[in-house]
Amino acid sequence: MADAQGDTWDVVVIGAGVAGLSSAMQLARRGLRVVVLERERIGNGSTGRAAGLLGQLRGTPEATRLLMDGLAIVRELEQRAGTEIFVQTGSVRVAASPERAREVVDLVAMGRAIDFEIEHIDNHELGNLLPYMKTEDVVDACHCPTDGHLQPAELAAAYVSVGREAGVEFRQHVPVDEIVVEHDRVRGVKCGQSTVSAPVVINASGPWSYRVAGYVDACLPTAAIGHHYLTTRPDDAHPVDRMSPAIRDRHNRIYARPESGGLIVGMYGTSAEVFDMSRLGSEFDMSAMKARRDDINVATLIHAAQQRFSWINERTPMTITTGIMTFTPDGKPLCGEIPGVAGLFHCSGFCGHGIVQSPLIGSIMADLIIDEQTEYDISVLEADRFFEMDGYVERAEIESRCFEMHAGYYGRVETGVSDAGDSDR
Ligand SMILES: Cc1cc2nc3c(=O)[nH]c(=O)nc-3n(C[C@H](O)[C@H](O)[C@H](O)COP(=O)(O)OP(=O)(O)OC[C@H]3O[C@@H](n4cnc5c(N)ncnc54)[C@H](O)[C@@H]3O)c2cc1C
Repeated sequence: MADAQGDTWDVVVIGAGVAGLSSAMQLARRGLRVVVLERERIGNGSTGRAAGLLGQLRGTPEATRLLMDGLAIVRELEQRAGTEIFVQTGSVRVAASPERAREVVDLVAMGRAIDFEIEHIDNHELGNLLPYMKTEDVVDACHCPTDGHLQPAELAAAYVSVGREAGVEFRQHVPVDEIVVEHDRVRGVKCGQSTVSAPVVINASGPWSYRVAGYVDACLPTAAIGHHYLTTRPDDAHPVDRMSPAIRDRHNRIYARPESGGLIVGMYGTSAEVFDMSRLGSEFDMSAMKARRDDINVATLIHAAQQRFSWINERTPMTITTGIMTFTPDGKPLCGEIPGVAGLFHCSGFCGHGIVQSPLIGSIMADLIIDEQTEYDISVLEADRFFEMDGYVERAEIESRCFEMHAGYYGRVETGVSDAGDSDR
């Protein structure tokens, strides 16, 4: 509830996706009075479209630690909210070429060095784990039994219920259209005629975040990029067990996981639509986005899926999910303040991994806002790391760099400790 001096809070959060919800919950649990303002419904942005794959092993031990510690938060949320969020199916990574096989060897070595459970598996074991997958061309593979996926809707609902218990107020259908700044300090936000005051505002508006930063002429280097995945209907001829492992096949640029008796298959291809969020209008509803089967990106996805799952083709009964992700030029999120406006914290740019990063990111945001520091090494996540850098100022150049990062996401061959983005390794 607002205090006696009007609508005044410790923190205003713009956007009720997983980033805003997790941050709000953590801040309220640490005693702050928080209001979340959402232009549409809770979880209506990227969060409502996500597949939720959780592969913990990343390019660096620190990035891996963020996800492993995040999973501990999820376990606690499951207890408190009494719901299953993490489905521990395990995951496999398959390599169908010598370069990709080197990636697998490296990944196993990296995992073992930090005591992460990972092992090579041969094609016989692979076939037993995934009888519906083509394995003849696989030259090496590894299995991570502690991976799986987070259920995005359940995760968002848990953030809301635990946040609400801690006092967070959620307002839906309240678009923020101005950020109030006085003497280079944030004072709150305006939604139509009303003002909501706070000394701290979090811009957690996902694909819209560069526009919201633009309210105060700040440059947030993100781009809004379209993404699709298919979900096959349950088929007795190709049963997909609910607990069969997630799959990453970077050669074909695809990921897959079980879903309600069918299979989700998504792709990071070389082509994708870049959206201008200002052209989508105030009525835009991401949950109503539809992709046509003859869209080139959908056709490419189906073709790629067929390379690993030969029973999938254009006639397979399936739904196509389409949504918009927020990419950055280096594949890592942007968390914290940017010089110019004190008290305005950005929390965006999760590059297709916001669901799985959100548990710990919320906690890090609370550390930054309350303690002005965190025990985690966030140098690669700081929101000001591109501040006024040549080539990261104009929209066109930012979009082109973000697009390049997206196109290389599964395309790059990554061996050794990698700084090149935060793609699933
Ligand atoms: C098809 C698809 C598949 C994906 N698969 C995965 C996956 O397997 N694993 C994974 O981890 N991630 C995945 N993602 C990415 C993940 O969904 C995002 O990284 C995550 O949801 C980002 O959360 P967010 O809170 O930053 O943004 P969002 O969920 O987009 O939330 C931002 C919110 O801000 C609101 N907003 C915007 N402007 C305003 C304003 N002016 N005033 C008030 N509110 C505003 C929006 O309506 C929206 O609800 C996928 C995404 C897509 C599209």
